[in-house]
Amino acid sequence: MAIGELKAGEVLFVGAGPGDPELITVKGLRALQQADVVVYAGSLVNPALLDECPQGCEVHDSAPLNLDQVLDILIAGCRANKKVVRLHTGDPALYGAIQEQMEALDVAGIGYAVIPGVTATFAAAASLKQELTLPGVSQTMTLTRLAGRTPVPEPEQLQRLAANGGTICLYLSVGMMDKLVADLLAGGIFTEQTPVAVVYRASWPDEKTVEGTLADIAEKVADAGITRQALILVGEVLNARSKGVPEKSKLYDPGFAHGYRK
Ligand code: SAH
Repeated sequence: MAIGELKAGEVLFVGAGPGDPELITVKGLRALQQADVVVYAGSLVNPALLDECPQGCEVHDSAPLNLDQVLDILIAGCRANKKVVRLHTGDPALYGAIQEQMEALDVAGIGYAVIPGVTATFAAAASLKQELTLPGVSQTMTLTRLAGRTPVPEPEQLQRLAANGGTICLYLSVGMMDKLVADLLAGGIFTEQTPVAVVYRASWPDEKTVEGTLADIAEKVADAGITRQALILVGEVLNARSKGVPEKSKLYDPGFAHGYRK
């Protein structure tokens, strides 16, 4: 079944991707090209994408609006039988606050659908040319954040997640590097030698990458002046680029047959 169709009188939540306007999906781009109303998250959606909207399309930046004001625009558009796109950065399902919008649309009796997007973690990994899961090193990724104005539930405190090891991808947290490092070390698996990469505005023209270890990354991030809009990757996988891959994957192992190779 296809997902995420643009329909008159409904809202389509679209993932804009991490920044590079070519990192939106084909389907998301087509939706923008046919939209009558677009409400976009101004802080991290590339304005170049808005050039794709047709002549006469009503375009709103949601950055200065509160939830009710966003909903008023979405609902008014749908009631006027327009094609309404709600454009979110990265993938809308992560830190996108879409559930509360969908709930309000349910109450209003308005339909909606979602088109996924490339999340910041994958843009950061691509920019580094780094696989996030390696045999014998890590087969698990944890996507999380430190508490800001939004709290993080107790069982998901970074110190507890860090006790699982693996690859940790942190959103919304680069402004708290000292706490982040302390929590990661407190988990008891990562050490001062554990590699860390920080990617500021992955896939944008002003992208910046800082790499180090838990011992020095906080200082390096401070020196680079990065205080926001960065994704932090933590874990032993990051050593593969300098130290090599410890174990080759089974997928392409000549001695390993599977459904597509005898
Ligand atoms: N839905 C988005 C995340 C929104 S929360 C997604 O899937 O990517 C905003 C946070 O995402 C930022 O604080 C930053 O941590 C991260 N982020 C978003 N775009 C980014 C980019 N291009 N480069 C690095 N981090 C980014």
